[in-house]
Amino acid sequence: MAENIVVGAGLSGLVAAINLVREGREVLVLEREKCIGGSSLYHPSPQGTPVDIEALKRYIGVDISPALSYFESKTFVFGKEITVDSEAISARLLERGPRSTSLDSLLYDIAVKEGVRFKFGQELVSQDDFAKLPPDTIVATGLHFEGFDSMRVDYLTSFHYAARKKTGDDKPPHVTIYEDDFTPDYAYTTSLNGIVFAHCFARVPIGNRTLEAFKESIYRNEGLEFDEWIDFTFPVPAARISNPSLFSGNKILAGTIGGFIEPFMFFGIHGALVSGKIAAMAVMDKDRAIEEARIATSAFKGAYILQKVLRYQPRFSKEFLLRFAIEQGLKMPVLTRVAKDSIPGWLNCKRAVRESFS
Ligand SMILES: Cc1cc2nc3c(=O)[nH]c(=O)nc-3n(C[C@H](O)[C@H](O)[C@H](O)COP(=O)(O)OP(=O)(O)OC[C@H]3O[C@@H](n4cnc5c(N)ncnc54)[C@H](O)[C@@H]3O)c2cc1C
Repeated sequence: MAENIVVGAGLSGLVAAINLVREGREVLVLEREKCIGGSSLYHPSPQGTPVDIEALKRYIGVDISPALSYFESKTFVFGKEITVDSEAISARLLERGPRSTSLDSLLYDIAVKEGVRFKFGQELVSQDDFAKLPPDTIVATGLHFEGFDSMRVDYLTSFHYAARKKTGDDKPPHVTIYEDDFTPDYAYTTSLNGIVFAHCFARVPIGNRTLEAFKESIYRNEGLEFDEWIDFTFPVPAARISNPSLFSGNKILAGTIGGFIEPFMFFGIHGALVSGKIAAMAVMDKDRAIEEARIATSAFKGAYILQKVLRYQPRFSKEFLLRFAIEQGLKMPVLTRVAKDSIPGWLNCKRAVRESFS
C-alpha cells in the first residue's frame, strides 16, 4: 500500500496521522524541527482553548484530557479588572512544545505506539518541494510562511511580542487577558506547569511603546517582569472572508493553514485537532470531508465580520461592548452557546455526540 504523507508534526498533523494509521494505512510524518514540539522560538508555552473534552474525544478518537488543566482567569478592559468565569466557555489550559507535559507529546506518543513513522529535520521550503509530494499529502504546517506561500493560501501577517520564564511549580494555572490601547487586538499572560508566558499581538505592526505599555501593565497588575522579549510575525488565514479551504491543488490542508482558526481571537487549537480528523477523512471520502470542513468553519464569516466591526469602533463603544460581552454575555446561555459554536470544529463534535445517542 502507498504511504500517506503528512507534513508537520503539530496538532492537526498528529491527529490526521493517528486517524489514518487506524484505517490500516502506512503513514509518514515529515517535520522540519529536530524533535516534536514545533518552534523553540515560542514553545514551550501555555495556551488556552474552549473544549468539550468528551465530544472532542468522540470526534477525533483521542482523549486529550491528561494534557488539560482548569485555570483561574482575570481580564483587564482598558485598565479595569473584570473577573471572568472561564467555565462559562469550558476553557482549559494546555502546554505546547517538546516537554513530556505538552499536548504535542501526548499525541506523538499515541502516534508512535500506533505505528506512525516520523522523519525529523525535514524542511519543505519551496513550492517545488511541496509539488513533488504525492496527491493527498496532508499539509499541516501551522502558522509558518513557507506552507502558506507554497500552498497559495492568502494570509494576513500578525505581529507578536512574547516572553517567558520559569516559575515555581506551585503557581496555579492562570490566565490574565488585557484589552487595552496598546494593541487593537489583545494581550495575555498564562502560567502552567512551571512556565509563565506573556504575549501581545496585533494585526498591524506594533512598536516599542506598545511593548513598554504591556510590560507596565503586567508589572502593575501581576508583579511580573521578564528579562528577554522576542518579536516575531506569523501568517494567519484571515485575509479574506472565504479563507477556509480543505484543498490546495491535489493536497489536503489541515489545521491553521486550512483556515480552521477562529478569526476573532485566533483560537486555533480546537480547529486544528478537529481538522486533523477531517483531513484523514479527505484521503478516504472527499465528499464527506468537504461537508465536515464546511460545518467546522461555518462560523468563520460571522466572526470575521464581527472582528472588523469591533476594530473600527471608537474606544468608548469598544470598551462598552467588550465589558458587556465579558461581564454579562458570559452569563447568558444563548450568548455562551453562540461563542462556543463559533469555535472551529465545535459543531462537528456536538453533532458526533448527538448522533451517538440517536
Ligand atoms: C505563541 C502562540 C500562542 C498561541 N496561543 C493560542 C491559544 O492560546 N489558543 C489557541 O487556540 N491557539 C493559540 N495559538 C494558535 C495555535 O497554536 C495554532 O493555531 C495551532 O497550533 C495550529 O495547529 P496546526 O496543526 O495547524 O500547526 P502546529 O501545531 O503549529 O504544527 C505545525 C508543524 O509543522 C511544522 N512545519 C512548519 N512548516 C514546515 C515546513 N515547511 N516543513 C516541515 N514542517 C513544517 C512545524 O514545525 C510544526 O511542528 C497560538 C499560537 C502561537 C504561535
